[in-house]
Amino acid sequence: MTQAQIIDGKGIAARLRSALRQEVQALQREQGLTPGLAAVLVGENPASQIYVRMKVKACKEVGIYSRQVTLPAATSQEQLLALIAELNHDPQIHGILVQLPLPAGLDERAVLESVRPAKDADGFHPENLGYLLAGYPQVLPCTPAGILKLIDSTGIELVGAQAVVVGRSLIVGKPTALLLLSRHATVTLCHSRTRDLEQVCRRADVLVAATGRPRLITAEMVQPGAVVIDVGVNRMPDRSLVGDVDFEAVRQVAGYLTPVPGGVGPMTIAMLMQNTVAAARRSGAK
Ligand code: NDP
Repeated sequence: MTQAQIIDGKGIAARLRSALRQEVQALQREQGLTPGLAAVLVGENPASQIYVRMKVKACKEVGIYSRQVTLPAATSQEQLLALIAELNHDPQIHGILVQLPLPAGLDERAVLESVRPAKDADGFHPENLGYLLAGYPQVLPCTPAGILKLIDSTGIELVGAQAVVVGRSLIVGKPTALLLLSRHATVTLCHSRTRDLEQVCRRADVLVAATGRPRLITAEMVQPGAVVIDVGVNRMPDRSLVGDVDFEAVRQVAGYLTPVPGGVGPMTIAMLMQNTVAAARRSGAK
């Protein structure tokens, strides 16, 4: 039996960044405009620190001006909202990202809603999520947009395909389901109360796992030949990183499979770059 083809998210993301670099140079040449991204980090969550560092590094590579604002965990809601209000009005900044999770005591929802929708680089603002639901997306959430690009890289026909998304979070599962629906897949959205998860997953031509449960998706849950996208990033007690998919076993069954790391993660960052460049372009068009 042939093994699944591994979807090279790292390579696809690198090509995307390189195309964006060209676009940034064109924006600078034609409009004297350099896209700018502000990354707001509150507290000292080690994983968040790594994510923000990776995003700042990607900005450098693409030619985006980046400003990292690091605030202490004891920052008050008012201070954080005041900073975002400032960034909302800063002409050098076209995209704002607030690294999640925020420390306890801060109201994540209020903070995300305070970002001007036009500068919402992560695509988490309810206005942008609403546009996605309404069928005319403005800013796409980064991880779901990256997932769709990975699925498209396999060449699978989504029209009429059975797509199963496991996980219904606002930042991954739900918007991924909406994007798949907009591409005319027949979408099933699963969660922790789904009955017979194995049977539901086995119907999938495209299976997206976004649960944060290490190796939840086993080989028995996968239809032979399916496209399997593993969004999960789980740190194990031995410090290794594993996804939500049992990689070695599923590899024997699936047609295509993303690795962890090197699959969805780099795409999320590439799409953040894309959102920032698009926001800068829109601001220049006014
Ligand atoms: P959340 O914790 O917000 O959501 C998890 C979802 O999985 C929930 O809908 C939950 O169901 C569902 N779930 C949990 N356990 C089960 C189960 N046993 N069977 C079926 N469904 C289950 O997570 P996120 O969506 O934020 O993230 C998911 C994973 O993706 C995490 O590992 C995260 O680290 C990773 N991630 C990776 C990114 C990347 O760029 N690579 C970006 C964002 C996230 P219910 O709603 O019923 O509780």
